[in-house]
Amino acid sequence: MPLEVRTTATLAEAASLLQSERAARFMAGGTLMMRAVNEGDVSFSTIVRTSDPAFVRVRAAGGRIELGAGVTMAQVLASRELAFLHPAARAVGGPAVRTMATVGGNLFAAHPYGDFATALLALDARVQLASGFGAREVPLEDLLRGRERGPRQLVAAVSFERPADPAAFRFRKMTRTHPKGPAVLTIAAWLPTSGGRVSGARVAFGAMAPFPIRARAVERALEGRLLSAEGVAPAVAAAAREGDPPTDPIASAWYRQRVVGVVLRRLLLGEL
Ligand SMILES: Cc1cc2nc3c(=O)[nH]c(=O)nc-3n(C[C@H](O)[C@H](O)[C@H](O)COP(=O)(O)OP(=O)(O)OC[C@H]3O[C@@H](n4cnc5c(N)ncnc54)[C@H](O)[C@@H]3O)c2cc1C
Repeated sequence: MPLEVRTTATLAEAASLLQSERAARFMAGGTLMMRAVNEGDVSFSTIVRTSDPAFVRVRAAGGRIELGAGVTMAQVLASRELAFLHPAARAVGGPAVRTMATVGGNLFAAHPYGDFATALLALDARVQLASGFGAREVPLEDLLRGRERGPRQLVAAVSFERPADPAAFRFRKMTRTHPKGPAVLTIAAWLPTSGGRVSGARVAFGAMAPFPIRARAVERALEGRLLSAEGVAPAVAAAAREGDPPTDPIASAWYRQRVVGVVLRRLLLGEL
């Protein structure tokens, strides 16, 4: 079936096209979309792209960081301001994939992908949605929860507060094939402390559910605790009860539930 490719000058035009044409699908880096094209996916007949400069813009100088949805993992890795996000960007595929793979595309990548989205979730990111009538913002958690239902929305950008202490942001991906396999599971955590005790932690799990999730029971169990073996024990015990991990060729749900506590403990204690 012939495919039409339409490139718009603005995000708003791209959003309008996607809203008006049911058979239109947005393409950013194309690492997953081109696979769909090559495999003969007939669920779309128009590919929408945009050359809007805002789509690929990084604003990292102030207290709030904004990444255009078309920013690639390679762009993140090239920014010193975004050094705390380098482990998450480096977790996405190999160098060739990272050159094309975008922040926005990662929010829609099916399980077990979504490593960067997991990091953004722990940063409590907000998502800017483009439409023909102007932009609006929603929490990333809501977008991820609703991404399988309802009409596909065009993400223009994501934004989040710059971590006051970058060392309080931690990321870890467990994979079977190194250095670039799909995730058995991914954990990202924002762990601010007050007087040595955790205060206001945010913990996100990737590949532990059909989409990246916040691990609320783990967060509650960490509140007021020291990041010591004894202090993190209740959070580690809570980890296996979070999510609903799918079974896939990478790992079974059973295995994911058993190893998530081990990976979480290592991340919380800063162990290798
Ligand atoms: C070999 C290989 C290895 C990979 N390894 C990993 C990995 O280790 N970790 C990982 O997380 N991912 C991995 N991926 C998946 C993928 O490369 C990334 O998730 C990437 O970030 C997807 O971004 P993209 O721009 O290429 O998406 P595209 O292929 O352009 O699009 C993917 C989907 O997202 C939608 N989309 C894209 N941008 C937007 C937007 N702004 N608004 C709304 N919808 C949008 C598209 O319509 C499409 O449905 C891998 C892929 C390949 C091919």
